Formats: sequence, C-alpha cells, structure tokens
Amino acid sequence: MPALESFVPLAELTYLDAPADAAATSLEVVPLPVVPATMLSAGWKRETLNGMRQVAEAGTLLRLLRTPARFKRGAEQLQLLRDAYYGKWVPRKLARVDGRYYREFMTPGRPSRAYDAYVASTVNRLVPFRADKNTLNMVFLAITKKCPLACAHCFEWDALNQKEKLTLDDLKTMVAKFQARHVSQIFFSGGEPMLRVHDLLEILQTAQPTTDFWVITSGFNFTLENALKLKQAGLTGVSISLDHHEPRQHNAFRGFDKAYENALQAAVYAREVGLVVNLGLCATREFTTKENLLAYAELAKRLGVTFVQILEPRAIGHYAAQDVALSESQLQLLDSFYEQVNYMPAYQDFPIVHYYGYHQRRIGCHGAADRFLYVDTDGDLHACPFCQKKQGSALGSSLDAVLDKGLVGSCQQFKQSTW
Ligand code: SF4
Repeated sequence: MPALESFVPLAELTYLDAPADAAATSLEVVPLPVVPATMLSAGWKRETLNGMRQVAEAGTLLRLLRTPARFKRGAEQLQLLRDAYYGKWVPRKLARVDGRYYREFMTPGRPSRAYDAYVASTVNRLVPFRADKNTLNMVFLAITKKCPLACAHCFEWDALNQKEKLTLDDLKTMVAKFQARHVSQIFFSGGEPMLRVHDLLEILQTAQPTTDFWVITSGFNFTLENALKLKQAGLTGVSISLDHHEPRQHNAFRGFDKAYENALQAAVYAREVGLVVNLGLCATREFTTKENLLAYAELAKRLGVTFVQILEPRAIGHYAAQDVALSESQLQLLDSFYEQVNYMPAYQDFPIVHYYGYHQRRIGCHGAADRFLYVDTDGDLHACPFCQKKQGSALGSSLDAVLDKGLVGSCQQFKQSTW
C-alpha cells in the first residue's frame, strides 16, 4: 500500500491571507470586493439560450433513441419528469460560468461531456436504449477523515481525525470506477478535502474529462494559489459551507474562529479563477426565519455565487440523538423561500436556490445509488451522507453487483422516487 506522505500536515498548511486591517480584525468587518454576478438577467438572452438548449436536447434525444416513435416517447417522458420535478413552475434562471451554462446545482453545465453523460443516463432510465442499467449520476466521495473544524452538525463526526484509510491510489481507483459507470458529477468531501489538495490535483489531472468535479469545503486552505491550481487541473466548482450571514454565528456553529472569513474569501477566490460557486447552508431551527433567509440571500448575491444549497439538519453524527428537525412552519418557510427566489421576477439576479428537501417531499428521494450515493472515508457505500448504513465497498470487486441492485434501506425519511 503506498505511503500517505501526500497528506498535508495541519501545521504546514499555507493559511489564507490575513485581511489588510488584521490588527483591527472585527468579526463584523469582512471586506467584500465587488464581484460581477454570473446570473443572466437579460430576458431575451436567457430565453434564446433556453431555446437553443431545447433544440440541442431534441437532437441528442433523436441520436440516442433513433426512431421517431422512441423519440416521441422519450420527449413525453422527459416532459413528465420535468412536470413532476418543477410542478407549476417554469425555471427561468440561467448562470454562465467560464463559458458553460448552469440551471441546477445537481446538473452539469452545458455544453460539456458531463452534461451529455447526464442526459444519456436520464434518457436511459426513461426509455432504455443501451445494455447497461446505469442510473447513477452523482457521487459524494469523502476523501479524508482530517478536519480542523468542529461543526455542530458534522455527519462524519465519529470518524473525524481518526487514522486515514484511503490512499491516493484508492481514490483514483474509485474515481475511475465511477467514471466507467458514466457518473457525471463527483463531489469530494471529508473531513476537509482541501487538506489533501495535492492528492486532489493528481486525481483531477489523471481523471477522464467526462465528469464535473466539485470540492465541498469549509474554505480552509482554499488559497488563491490552490484555487487556481485546482481550476487548471480540471475542477468545475466549489461548494462552500456557510451557515449564517453573521460572522459570529457561523464561527460558533463551525467551532472555528476564522470559519466565516475563510468561507467568504474562498468564494471570492473561486469566482476569481472561474470556478462555479455554491454556498451550502445548514438551515437549523435557530437560523430558519424569513429575515435570516433573506439576509443570507443578499450576501450570496453580493458574493456573486451561482447557487445556494439548503440542507435540513439531521440527527446523525455530531447531532445524533438530538431533536434538530425543523418545525412544519419552518419547512413551509423554506419552500416559500425556494419558490420566491427562484421564480419571482424581483429575485432574478439572486443565485439559484437548490433545496432538495422541496423535491424529496413531492417526488421522493433519488439516493441509494438510484441517482446518487455517498462513499465514506473508509471507501464504504451509503444511501447518502445523511442515511448512513455501510453497504459494501466502492473499492471491492463487488461494486458493480452492489450498484446494479441498488442500496437497500435507502432513505430514512422519504419514499424512494419512482422517477
Ligand atoms: S462538517 Fe465538514 S468542516 Fe465541519 S467538522 Fe465535519 S468535516 Fe469538518
């Protein structure tokens, strides 16, 4: 087994630049440069691009399904899927980052090979056209147990800062296996994945360019230099954990007094090098008010990020055995916020909100290797980061067999989606 010397020891990490006014570092003063927004707000341009996407999709459908009858069935099924997902709403927002267009956080940008792979797998599950039964689109791959933070909600809490298990070769093997199954998005998580930035670079440099790769980070060690290297190696985007618009609240939640500063700085650096940026928000009971959600959205807009992802707290990991579930009225508030920011004209220039819980309650869950799964820091498979129950290894020879039958005991909270 190769040595793990490529891990970056915590003590040797290059830390983020100190703010210019370091002597008077006030938690309330985090300077934000003016960052141009990525959202396409000009209606005619957005509509033209949406029209072009529809034409391109029709061409792809015809190429994959070949006959007029199968094309018609594919187009009908895709429309039904959209209707089930969006309900009465028509998605209008579009973001442009580094020459690609993004509409959903969990969908690759287009044009790209990752987007083509995503469309092909989606069509294949509606109107099968190829021999394999691949439906897996996304993998969350935890690449390290190490982390300097101590977040209130950490779902990897029990494994945190234990002896590392996965070697660089293990990680490259898993990425290759998932790429062979046409996975179109891989999200590297942890622990703090930026502690293995050297390994991340090598994984990206040796992977096939058929997948969108993301890093899910607290912002720790996300220097401008590292951001640039990752972008040049092929990284698509970065999901930055930011759980409050107020510095003190975020730092307390993350158990780290520079968490807020790191997160905002990471967002600025990521934008600067042309990465897509998502802000990941754990909407706790304490946070989930109308005022906080709107203040958070304003901050996200000022940062010029493309997406905001809302996650609901779950009683696992550091939250185990605690009553952290949101109230019914808070869930309704999140639903309204999601609809308001995504579909109301007044919020056209705000980032696109991704709230998976909204869709899970309406059409069910797509985890458990149906469309996505989670690989933990031992390389073991789980339905998702929040429904943890080890079910085989992503390193073992049985991976294909495990994936082909789907993971059992899938979502603890939602029914399995029939879509
Ligand atoms: S949630 Fe992420 S950043 Fe926070 S302690 Fe856990 S691994 Fe570290």
